[in-house]
Amino acid sequence: MLVVMKNDATEAQVQAVVRAIEKLGYRGIPMPGAQRTAVCIIGNTGPVDDSGLLVMNGVKETIRVTKPYKLVSRETHPQSTVIAIGDIKIGGGKPVIMAGPCAVESEEQALTIARLVKKYGAQVFRGGAFKPRTSPYSFQGLGEEGLKILDKVRQETGLLIVTEATDHINIEVVEQYADIIQIGARNMQNYSLLRRAGHASKPVLLKRSFAATIEELLMSAEYISSEGNNQVILCERGIRTFSDNTRNTLDLSAIPSIKEVSHLPIIVDPSHAAGRRDYVISLSKGAIAVGADGLLVEVHHDPPHALSDGMQSLYPEQFGELMEEIKGLTR
Ligand code: PEP
Ligand code: MN
Repeated sequence: MLVVMKNDATEAQVQAVVRAIEKLGYRGIPMPGAQRTAVCIIGNTGPVDDSGLLVMNGVKETIRVTKPYKLVSRETHPQSTVIAIGDIKIGGGKPVIMAGPCAVESEEQALTIARLVKKYGAQVFRGGAFKPRTSPYSFQGLGEEGLKILDKVRQETGLLIVTEATDHINIEVVEQYADIIQIGARNMQNYSLLRRAGHASKPVLLKRSFAATIEELLMSAEYISSEGNNQVILCERGIRTFSDNTRNTLDLSAIPSIKEVSHLPIIVDPSHAAGRRDYVISLSKGAIAVGADGLLVEVHHDPPHALSDGMQSLYPEQFGELMEEIKGLTR
């Protein structure tokens, strides 16, 4: 339930409503909006008796939130969320481009790719230091050494860094080095990781699992928000279907669907969806055309020798081409 405050309600009246909600045994989270503040009630498993709340000073009305996710719902927060990090704004209208290798392999590799993607206009550098791999025998990432390399990339290029935390233990160190903490598709329902990410001081990039519905994705985002971190960026990266022409099927319809029901920004990862580099530019154009707030693209200076996902990594010049092609769609 949402307790909608009057336009001229004071901060003291909002706090009094929060305390009254706590007395009922729930949590009240103030959500300031452009016109008015609303207080979202969370923690109830059944209907809330709002009779005591409705008569409080400053309260305009109560509204039932019909979705199972509350804080990330547009019902609770009608305006789209814009996540500002440094000079970049995710969800601010202009797509934000994140690019880099699947995994950080060495300082030379990361810096070489970072300089190139920066030259072509990327704003955020991606690269995994902790890699969730299907096989335990595949390259697992450089760990903290990889994070230190990412720190050098940021210092030298000024690019922001997005990198993955794969469990509730390594998120501690990832949080120190990353500008955006990535939670991968395989961990979308790793609830201890989600809860820990909810206490992080950095925005979280939450990828949709290849087997998750949109509601499940938003419930996972709700885990993060309910712990206090409402800086969540969603990412569509392809889902598993019977179609076997691509690694996954890019669900572009998820973008307008999510924008209808949630205020969170959503970006698209065309690389893990396609699984092959020759489709990545087309899928990127499609993503921007349907309203994605950004892209997460794998780029490698030497894809045949990449330690992971070389097949789907763009050559740097192809990334340059991608940037040119999407310019026409964002003007
Ligand atoms: C990645 O972006 O490096 C990654 C592992 O992707 P996903 O979690 O979507 O498979
Ligand atoms: Mn990858």
